[in-house]
Amino acid sequence: MEFKKCVRCGCFFVSTNDVCCNCESKDRFDIAKLNSILEDNNDFNSIEELSTISGINLNNLNRFIANDKISGIENISL
Ligand SMILES: [Zn+2]
Repeated sequence: MEFKKCVRCGCFFVSTNDVCCNCESKDRFDIAKLNSILEDNNDFNSIEELSTISGINLNNLNRFIANDKISGIENISL
């Protein structure tokens, strides 16, 4: 296995994931938060708006979307 650089915090780690084990739990937390926001309201005009409301930065948001981690995002124009 090779060293990889965590896309969230930039530390090096050995795993098949994109993020280190510290950030894995942060990812899970962010994804749960996003999904609960989108359950109540998926009337967002843009990813930027969702980012502002959720407090989750665009890099992470786009990564979750690219990895199909978020449901209810279909109505938002990307
Ligand atoms: Zn990390």
